[in-house]
Amino acid sequence: MPLGEADWLMTEAFADANEVNRAAQRARVVQGAWASLPWCARGRALRGLAHRVARDEELARLIVAETGKPLFEAVGFEIAYVCEAIRYFTGRAGRRALAESQRFSLILPHKQARVAWRPRGIVAVIGPWNFPLLNNFGDAIAALVAGNAVLLKPSPYTPLTSRRVEALWRDEGLPESVFQVVEGGADSGRALVDACDMVFFTGSLAVGRQVASRAGERLIPCVAELGGKSAMIVLADADVRAAAHAAVWGAFAGAGQVCIRVERVLVEDRVADEFVGLVAEETKKLRLGQRGDGDVDVDVGPLLLESQIQRCCALVEDAIARGAHILAGGDERPESFFVPTVLDHVSPDAAVAREETFGPVLPILRVRDADEAVRITNDTHLGLSGAVWSRDPARARAIARRLETGSVCINDVLVNYFCLSAPLGAAKQGGLGFRHGPEALRQFCYPQTIVEDRPLLEPVAGWIRNRLGFPYRKRVLDVLRWLLRALYR
Ligand code: NAD
Repeated sequence: MPLGEADWLMTEAFADANEVNRAAQRARVVQGAWASLPWCARGRALRGLAHRVARDEELARLIVAETGKPLFEAVGFEIAYVCEAIRYFTGRAGRRALAESQRFSLILPHKQARVAWRPRGIVAVIGPWNFPLLNNFGDAIAALVAGNAVLLKPSPYTPLTSRRVEALWRDEGLPESVFQVVEGGADSGRALVDACDMVFFTGSLAVGRQVASRAGERLIPCVAELGGKSAMIVLADADVRAAAHAAVWGAFAGAGQVCIRVERVLVEDRVADEFVGLVAEETKKLRLGQRGDGDVDVDVGPLLLESQIQRCCALVEDAIARGAHILAGGDERPESFFVPTVLDHVSPDAAVAREETFGPVLPILRVRDADEAVRITNDTHLGLSGAVWSRDPARARAIARRLETGSVCINDVLVNYFCLSAPLGAAKQGGLGFRHGPEALRQFCYPQTIVEDRPLLEPVAGWIRNRLGFPYRKRVLDVLRWLLRALYR
């Protein structure tokens, strides 16, 4: 059993509303000074932290201990992501996104506007258990770079990784209270939404709705990164062997507890037999293991929650009742495992084809053609990500554009998460807002626009100002009318 679940009853560390408020007050005291540091000083400080994160063996050990995931994923997904996110957001792209700019308007040629991106203040980052570093501190980085203070609430199942980052923050000599970890469950989460100026939530759709509506009551911005039902479409002209290899990784990495995982495959009939054969063969070779089984000798770890195992069992049973065939797995194992399971001939009506599984079950749906694949893919309320496989890139792109999802990989899976220069969001109920790209940095800010006379045009500006106010005059209105007709011919 992963450490997180065993620790579930250790609630003494949970912060109540008073403690959350005190943490917010401490953050308010220091946030202004953090925001007024020159860009390069904030960047240098955070890059120092990346240096520590990249080398910290304890951090990797804790991620593995809390989640049960293989060490390869702790280092290759989570630690690598955080280091790269710090590099990206503190780099040139970040500086450009937040730099003050000058803007001009045709209708006010004598004026100029200076636009600055001001931090919102204190951002609550509320994270899930499946990526205790990447979806927790990882989502605090852009907020910090933009000059905010952050209160991070990890999942109660996986608090130790965030605590370790807090220790590294202190060791690096970064300003105290600019980044704080607040432990707790739903109560602490609610108190955070009430105490902060913005919330960045990652988790389930049900909780995301509650968080967004509470943030709405306070009229504070809320980014919500929620669940997915990502489809991988395999067209008949795809490299079937490569697609099968990717489908297995995309479906079973993180023991299927990954939001952008391959939740279902839609494969064209003509290549379906070959594809499912290869997927089943590769799935049966996956090495299941516990943490501590060895460094890289494990492909798939246990599930964190007992309820997830029950859910996988129920979804598999429902699919079989609706005509699906099991090609691999399908049975429970002791010690929190669910054997990676491949289902063929899954009906589009089966729950496993429609609802987020978030576990190691891969349903394969056979489709007549690309149109049917697109129709089934879009027939869901979740629109996080997807994939299209074809040897014809133009055709794959055309199909990708028809998918109602926040991102699409062509001839690949999962890698969209690491494309930090591009926004990663969702369509429909997959979430609100996005992470990554320069746009994400601006999301943690409000724009402040300062409008003033253009140098050298002050006399003209003064003349216009005197004529635009009260009392309204017919002559000025006539000039305005003439201007409108001239400008908008
Ligand atoms: P969850 O919604 O149960 O919990 C997420 C966080 O919200 C936890 O820290 C929890 O303590 C807190 N919380 C619970 N109730 C709250 C409330 N009323 N107010 C404020 N905070 C509250 O999610 P989970 O089980 O930890 O994570 C799994 C889900 O997260 C899956 O659906 C998965 O798809 C999704 N997820 C999405 C992404 C993404 O980027 N889109 C990434 C990872 C996970």
